Amino acid sequence: MEDCLFCRIVAGRIPARKVFEDEEILAFHDINPARPVHLLVIPKRHITSLATVGDTDTVVLGRMLAVANRLATEQGSPDGFRVIINTGRIGHQEVQHLHAHIVGGPEPVGPMLKRI
Ligand code: AMP
Ligand code: ZN
Repeated sequence: MEDCLFCRIVAGRIPARKVFEDEEILAFHDINPARPVHLLVIPKRHITSLATVGDTDTVVLGRMLAVANRLATEQGSPDGFRVIINTGRIGHQEVQHLHAHIVGGPEPVGPMLKRI
């Protein structure tokens, strides 16, 4: 996926502050952090969004969450964290490569959504 930002990060063509990498997952700091801890965990293989996953993706999805748990503890949010997967237009997904935001830090991150 030549034109996919996160595929370019996976390929090493765009730099990122990586915190974890194995054969199928990459995790790095969000370039514009919303909280003291703000990581992105992605599958290395291009998956557009949670709206496009199927039964063949369940292993990598599960591993993303297990990695998220470990990284949150290691990276400064040992007392809990929030996982956000923005999906599609309604979910306000800006980068069209599946990613889980891991947000946290020393203080609670606040209510999940503003009521409208
Ligand atoms: P989303 O709205 O869920 O698609 O969020 C995309 C996230 O990617 C945003 O939080 C951006 O700050 C982040 N982001 C965009 N470009 C980069 C980059 N080059 N390195 C790290 N994070 C990025
Ligand atoms: Zn991609």
